[in-house]
Amino acid sequence: MLYLCATPIGNLEDMTFRAIRILREVDLIAAEDTRRTRKLLTHFEIHTPLIRFDENCSAQVAEKILQRLQAGESVAVVSDAGLPAISDPGADLVRLAIDNDIKVCPIPGANAALSALICSGLDTTKFLFAGFAPKSKKNRREFLEKLSTVEETIIFYEAPHRLKNFLEELSEVFGERQAVLARELTKVHEEFLRGTISELTEKISEPRGEFVVLIEGQKFSEQIDGDWLEFYRKLLAEGFDKKSAMREAAKKFNVSRREIYNTLIREEI
Ligand code: SAM
Repeated sequence: MLYLCATPIGNLEDMTFRAIRILREVDLIAAEDTRRTRKLLTHFEIHTPLIRFDENCSAQVAEKILQRLQAGESVAVVSDAGLPAISDPGADLVRLAIDNDIKVCPIPGANAALSALICSGLDTTKFLFAGFAPKSKKNRREFLEKLSTVEETIIFYEAPHRLKNFLEELSEVFGERQAVLARELTKVHEEFLRGTISELTEKISEPRGEFVVLIEGQKFSEQIDGDWLEFYRKLLAEGFDKKSAMREAAKKFNVSRREIYNTLIREEI
């Protein structure tokens, strides 16, 4: 059996009874960072052998783990925090296990995205987990523009040193949407900052700690009722071409051009 085992995202009390038992009982723990995991294991008096399994690990390491699973041993995968395979290593090992008829079993527990979502106050009925945005500016822009028209609440992970820049880019693409920053979840300095993207950009001058960024999905009614449409039509009537009218409306009403474009196409305006 291959276990995918959650570990705390800050507060050690979030370790589950089951996770402790499984980590004690398995033959091997595959850990993203063996030093960090050893500290956790020491705290819970777990003495199971560890093997490093991070995203740079060779196929040989995965093969070694697979051989042990095929020999009838049980292995648990853990990441540094939260659920393995969620913006963390583990998914490749799951695929390999499935392809080789090895059973996989989740040991649920802490996860930053869902913990942030349930306290965000944003729509929890439909959401889209976007994880980390790509690092290259061009790819990131494309990635965000694709997300700009989804109606679900969007959840991002972002490193603190990139947060300010990321919020500025979000503002350019998503305009004045409601957003939430969930900071240092389950830790002493846990906090939730709520407001429009630009309000949050101002609030957060020197981001410290870990953050989940959530943005409300695009509201269909707003797409049509927004004054930008009236303004756009006025500009067309004044002789502006479509592209310039779109650009001017986006600027004046702080909506992304992509958002305007998609609405016009969808509504066949
Ligand atoms: N596998 C983890 C999970 O299940 O949540 C996510 C690991 S990912 C490499 C790390 C990112 O998750 C951080 O950059 C941050 O965006 C988010 N994160 C992890 N712990 C957090 C915490 N305590 N508070 C806020 N965000 C956190």
